[in-house]
Amino acid sequence: MIHPEVDPPVAAREALEQSERRYRTLVEHSPVGIWQTTPEGETLYLNPAMCELFEIDGPAEMAGKTYKDFYTPESVATVQREHAKRRRGEASNYEVEIIGARGSRRNVTIHGAPVYGSDGNVASFIATIVDVTKERLARRLIDAAQEQVRHLNAQLEHRVQQRTRELEASNAQLESFCYTVSHDLKAPLRAICSFAEILEEDLASLLPEERLSSVRAIATAARRMDELLKDLLDFTRISRCELKLSPLDTASILKKVIAASAHPDFSVSIVEPLPAILAHDAALERIFANLIANAQKFVRPGVLPAVRIFAQDRGERIRFYIEDNGIGIAPEHRERIFGVFERLHAQDEYPGTGVGLAIVKTYIEKMNGLVGLESTVGSGSRFWIELARAASMN
Ligand code: ADP
Repeated sequence: MIHPEVDPPVAAREALEQSERRYRTLVEHSPVGIWQTTPEGETLYLNPAMCELFEIDGPAEMAGKTYKDFYTPESVATVQREHAKRRRGEASNYEVEIIGARGSRRNVTIHGAPVYGSDGNVASFIATIVDVTKERLARRLIDAAQEQVRHLNAQLEHRVQQRTRELEASNAQLESFCYTVSHDLKAPLRAICSFAEILEEDLASLLPEERLSSVRAIATAARRMDELLKDLLDFTRISRCELKLSPLDTASILKKVIAASAHPDFSVSIVEPLPAILAHDAALERIFANLIANAQKFVRPGVLPAVRIFAQDRGERIRFYIEDNGIGIAPEHRERIFGVFERLHAQDEYPGTGVGLAIVKTYIEKMNGLVGLESTVGSGSRFWIELARAASMN
């Protein structure tokens, strides 16, 4: 194949023209403003995007104007500092605010660089200018919203702290009131108990049976009240105490509790290993004692209580289950039974004061633990407590 001869200077001129057309098209269609000025700030060239930013119809409107006509007064000092950089031959990137010919203000980022003449001196500056008004507005809105959220959070935090302090104070007052009342009622109640018993003995031979039963009822009621008061006093004492936690060997505490159990006949199985936990020894003993006593007590008549105790590893915490074969607890009662004096049965059916679980819950909360239960009415309950694992003993 024969190639037509091309005159080298013509080819070079054509290549140059093509390159010129390429760059001109690029600049004219650029969505970014492009602006060329003399080092003194007079406009040599600006593209359509730049005209739009300056709110002018074409480059002719720049005649007689310098850069100072298009910057807000606060931005002029920044521009002068950046121009000085360019004169020293450095590139400069900065953000300022411009004012268009129709007065609108816009935030822009400018990337400028010096353009050298054939003599090696800075002949002009050329800069690309990007409109960042929307971004800045969005930023300002976000900052304002974040500031408001911070402010509201601080207010909320302050209110929560204040309410907590008030609640703690009124709680402490109530606890101390409860303690004093139950303490002060003890002595007169003991007196009623003793006198009712004396009366019962003295009148046994003098009164007919139906009259005597009224005296007996007074003695029984007084004894019941004494029991309730004793447990209430115990509960208020526990609510007011501070607990120091230390690593404890759960298995040996459980064995001690079971050995001391008053219940004559029941089967118990402890599934080992039982990991060590961080707790207070007397508190943990009391918790296990109360839960085991309930497991032994709340069975149908004639059923031999069977208790199974096992642990479950839950990472930072250990959960201990005390499972029984008792009467179970309906879902609607599962929260309220942890309240003081809350009972689901009559005294002659299952005796008690309704304070045992309240003590368990108070102790558990003081040790930063959790307590709960699973149950199926008629076939048994599984109470559980969760306490922090003792790292050093495992
Ligand atoms: P008390 O045992 O003196 O009645 P507690 O506070 O220990 O008081 O328990 C409150 C109530 O919760 C009990 O009266 C009983 O109705 C219910 N309860 C507790 N443990 C069990 C259990 N293991 N099985 C069935 N019911 C239970």
